[in-house]
Amino acid sequence: MPPTIATRPATLTREAWLQTAVTELRRHFSAQGHTVPPAQVSIGFTGSGMRSMSIGQCWPTLQATDQLNHIFIIPGLGDPVEILDTLVHELVHAVLDCHHGHGKVFKAVALSVGLEGPMRSAHAGKELRAKLTDWRRWHDGARPDMLEDQAE
Ligand SMILES: [Zn+2]
Repeated sequence: MPPTIATRPATLTREAWLQTAVTELRRHFSAQGHTVPPAQVSIGFTGSGMRSMSIGQCWPTLQATDQLNHIFIIPGLGDPVEILDTLVHELVHAVLDCHHGHGKVFKAVALSVGLEGPMRSAHAGKELRAKLTDWRRWHDGARPDMLEDQAE
């Protein structure tokens, strides 16, 4: 059975969980010399809609009236580590205000924060994945109901 997220308490939305994750990840990026700008993270379908293969997307500040980067992560991702992994990738785009695609500049930031693989689908390497797993555990404390169906 695929992992699922249990019903959330009304006091903490998925978006609030993601914003907390951004705060944690901001420290991680900062340690590598990168500034994560204020960004709004939402669960939602990417610009290409439900049929898109993208699991996340970052929109540049120019496209938002509030001048923030807006990051969307598709609702189908249930594993918190996968969500955090996707969030790291999208935050690399946010650091660059979505310029540079997945080219050299993106790659330099991505590698420095622990992503690896083809840049279009850059994902957490072993070391970053271990950190994300630790953070997930931290989040377990904040949301003990969230991972009850997760098998280790
Ligand atoms: Zn990307």
